[in-house]
Amino acid sequence: MSRGPFAAGERVLLVDSKRRRHLVTLAPEGEFHSHAGVLRHAAIIGSPEGVTLRTTLGARLVAVRPTLSDYVVEMPRGAQVIYPKDLGAILMLADVFPGARVLESGVGSGALTTTLLRAVGPTGHVLGYEIREDFAARARRNVEAYLGPDVPLDVEVRDIYEGIGVGDLDRIVLDLPEPWQVVPHAATALAPGGILLAYLPTILQVAQLREALEGSPFGMAQSLEVLHRTWHIEGQSVRPDHRMVAHTGFLTVARLLTPEEPAPATAPAEEPDPRPDTAPDPGPDTAPDAD
Ligand code: SAH
Repeated sequence: MSRGPFAAGERVLLVDSKRRRHLVTLAPEGEFHSHAGVLRHAAIIGSPEGVTLRTTLGARLVAVRPTLSDYVVEMPRGAQVIYPKDLGAILMLADVFPGARVLESGVGSGALTTTLLRAVGPTGHVLGYEIREDFAARARRNVEAYLGPDVPLDVEVRDIYEGIGVGDLDRIVLDLPEPWQVVPHAATALAPGGILLAYLPTILQVAQLREALEGSPFGMAQSLEVLHRTWHIEGQSVRPDHRMVAHTGFLTVARLLTPEEPAPATAPAEEPDPRPDTAPDPGPDTAPDAD
């Protein structure tokens, strides 16, 4: 993301008085047309970010650089993307850090890929497995349109259910229909302590994934959903908005644990298995289990 005045070739978000948003790529001879008139790109180029400009019909447009969140909502799609409310939570739950080696599958439109790349930074690496060649190509175009061509990304057209084929990964992030098929492969591809995260639209899928995790070396499993409620704030009218997105997907996360050494003969009889029910307390933002 660049700074300073707008330059030709950059993407700009134009926001009108009704908060409608339009993503445009600046060209010296370009023009933005809407029912509210025309704005020449030349008037935007050289202006500072946040500037208010007028169309030929006098309508106001505010010009800002799109945030990652703006971009993933506006970018061209092949497959359905993961929305910003979940993308933010994924980075925290999967603990995606600068320098991390992350495997992502499927790549889809590249919304999550772009988010992961920005979090791992130039010293990290994202490897994407996508079964559809057209989606893989579209995702790469979308990623590069926002982050530029110098990204530590490799996308391979392959079926992750058949295996992963690399090792020592820090994180695996899945957005595909049957992540339970990936659990055995993930258990050998992740480094010890590595994190597996899956985004799933239905709770039956979550249950099936949790069952697969139960019978695997993964522990500390947790499933949750992110509810994002916006508020209307105008003078005395301060209340939640009437509408909200009630559902996108569920997030399930688990960590690869190292198998326990066989107990020595003198060890105290039976201690409860620390996974998964008595896993360390995940913190004050998670209510204690009811059972
Ligand atoms: N997270 C993406 C969207 C992914 S949509 C985004 O934010 O843009 C799910 C993708 O998984 C689709 O592109 C689909 O082709 C791919 N997919 C489904 N099964 C797969 C498999 N077995 N191996 C690899 N990719 C798969």
